[in-house]
Amino acid sequence: MISKPFSLTPFNGTTRSMKLLGPISLHGGHSGEFCCHAKDRLADIIQQYIQIGFRQVGITEHIPPMHPKFLYPEEIEQGLTVDHMYQRFARYFTTIRQLKTDLTDRIQIFAGMETEAFPGYLPHVRHLVAEFSPDYLVGSVHHVADICFDYSSQTYGAAVKACGSIQALYMDYFDRQFEMIQAVRPFVVGHFDLVRIHDPDYTARVLHPEIDRKINRNLDLIKELGLVMDLNLRPLTRGEPEPYPARSILEKIRSRRIPMVPGDDSHGVAQAGKHVDTGIRLLEKMGFDTGWPVPKLLEMK
Ligand SMILES: [Zn+2]
Ligand SMILES: [Zn+2]
Repeated sequence: MISKPFSLTPFNGTTRSMKLLGPISLHGGHSGEFCCHAKDRLADIIQQYIQIGFRQVGITEHIPPMHPKFLYPEEIEQGLTVDHMYQRFARYFTTIRQLKTDLTDRIQIFAGMETEAFPGYLPHVRHLVAEFSPDYLVGSVHHVADICFDYSSQTYGAAVKACGSIQALYMDYFDRQFEMIQAVRPFVVGHFDLVRIHDPDYTARVLHPEIDRKINRNLDLIKELGLVMDLNLRPLTRGEPEPYPARSILEKIRSRRIPMVPGDDSHGVAQAGKHVDTGIRLLEKMGFDTGWPVPKLLEMK
C-alpha cells in the first residue's frame, strides 16, 4: 500500500498542532510567467519541486506595484504599466490555484504572495488580500526612501546616500520592517536582514548597538505575534557564505524559539529547492525544530 504523503498535514482547523515534515520552501517560486526578473513557467518550477522530492511548497509571487515609480527597470523596458502588472498578478492566482488542484495528489501547494513595504502600501496589500485570498503572506522590505535598495549596487548606493549613511539605511530598514510586521502580520517574515545585501561589513554592522537594538525589537515583535521567519537561501545561490539572516541574528532567533522555515527565493527551475538541504542541516545543527508550521493567513491590523 502506498502511504499518503500528506497524512501529517492538517486540512482543517482540528489538527492545528500538526507540522509539515520533509523538504520545504515557503518563500520563492517566482516565475518568468509572472515576474520579469525570473525565468521559466510556474508549472515547470512546480514539476521541479516534485521531482526533487518536495511534498509541500509555498509559492509567493511579488505583489504588483500600485504606482509607476515602483515598477522595476525591466518592467518599464517591456512597456508594462501598473494595470498590466495587476492583471498579470490576477493570472498568477488563477494559475497557481489550477496547479494546486491538478497536482493535489503529488504536492501540497500553498498559494502565497510576497508583499512590499513602500509608502502607502497598506491599503493596496489589504485590497490584494481581499481580492485574491492568498493562503499566506511573506512580508518583505525591498524599499527604503522609495528606492529598491536590493536591486543593484547602484540602487543600494543611492539608498545609502538618501538615508545619509549606511548605518542610517539599516536603521530605516529595520524601522520600516517593524511597521510592516505590525500592520501586515505576514505568516513569514522574508529575508530579515536583506539590508546587508551589498554591504561587505555586515557581520560587524548588525552588532552595532543601535542596529542591534532594532533587531532585538523586531524579533521580540515577531515572537509576540507568533510569526515564522524565512531562512532565505538565495545568498548561497550567489556564492555567499551564509543565508539570511546572519549567524548572530540566527542565534537570537533560536534563543527566542521563533520557528524558522527554509525559503529558496527561487526565480526559475534551476533554483527551485536549491540549498534547502543545506538550510535544513544548519537548522538541525543549531537545534531548531524542523517540523514546519502550516502556513495560514493572519488577520491584518
Ligand atoms: Zn524577485
Ligand atoms: Zn524578496
